[in-house]
Amino acid sequence: MPVQTAAVEAVILAGSNIEKERCLPESIRKLRRQPDITVRAVSTCYESEAVGGTSDTPDFFNAAILVTTSLDPETLRDRLHQIEDELGRVRTDDPNAPRTADLDIIYYADLVKDYDGWSIPDPAAEVEAYVARPVSEVVPRHIHPVSGRTTTEISRSIDAENPEVAPSMAIRLSTPYTTRALPDFDDVEGVYAPRLEAIVRDQLVEIGEDPEREGLQRTPLRVAKAMDFLTSGYSTSVADVVNDAIFDAEGAEEMVVVRDVEYYSMCEHHMLPFFGKATVAYLPKGEIIGLSKIARIVDVFARRLQVQERLTNQVADAMEEILDPHGVGVVMEGKHLCMMMRGVQKQESSMVTSAMRGTFRSDARTRSEFLSLVT
Ligand code: ZN
Repeated sequence: MPVQTAAVEAVILAGSNIEKERCLPESIRKLRRQPDITVRAVSTCYESEAVGGTSDTPDFFNAAILVTTSLDPETLRDRLHQIEDELGRVRTDDPNAPRTADLDIIYYADLVKDYDGWSIPDPAAEVEAYVARPVSEVVPRHIHPVSGRTTTEISRSIDAENPEVAPSMAIRLSTPYTTRALPDFDDVEGVYAPRLEAIVRDQLVEIGEDPEREGLQRTPLRVAKAMDFLTSGYSTSVADVVNDAIFDAEGAEEMVVVRDVEYYSMCEHHMLPFFGKATVAYLPKGEIIGLSKIARIVDVFARRLQVQERLTNQVADAMEEILDPHGVGVVMEGKHLCMMMRGVQKQESSMVTSAMRGTFRSDARTRSEFLSLVT
């Protein structure tokens, strides 16, 4: 059994002066994905001239990050180095060399300790404005364990001499959210699904958004309602929608085809929409169904997390079950946003799936008659 260490608060300073618009946010994102590290708050991004650099050393972006972690300081530092490596940090003997990513532990609870070549607290905490300013933003009342001054006092004492450290509007990092826990959220009027809305809110924070900004304040509520609609198939049954709309039709032997039934679903792999048209056909054996009901049956299965193949088969099985026909054929065409928006970006590609039952499967003539109607 691994020893469980109680989580402690630590403050990390992230910096970058190579591809900094990309590398600084990316280093914070990577930090968020680390096991045993929870990002609690991120400061504004500050821009400053490189300390000890030459006139053509690029300016730095820096931000402070408050985390809770169960890792000991040395393991935490190893993890930070690993993130630096992933971001292409090249280590040289020059301490002022430009770098894609720099992640340093500034404070680790109230620890005061010297390691081989580094210390906690980081000595820069009390002398460098590019450290003190962002740090005082995420832990304004934290007391430096040696000097006894708060981070706010330290920052004010250095600020006057370092006007060149300034907040940058070039990139927007995440906002602190330790101060905005769920109790406040419960007071927001119009709460519809408290737990789902809380999760959506956390998701906004995790992607680096500010759930308090005007356009997003009611987003968790809207997303919860939209999700309920888009997944309403979980609480609907075929029997409900068909209701009694099945009719005797002795002698009706011709194939019934409903073409181009629009559907909207969400893929279960990415929870992104896929949508298109379905063509549903059957050869009656005494019973027929109201045409509008076929679209409702498609919706019962489409409004769930799906894969298109299963959706197609479920529609065919439902038709077979309620009508007991000679045969059923379903062809679905779908465009998947997870393919169109990400990665390969094959915007024009669509997927076609089919399911054949009874004579649609066993009789080549029936099947080809159906397929000729589809295309
Ligand atoms: Zn997908």
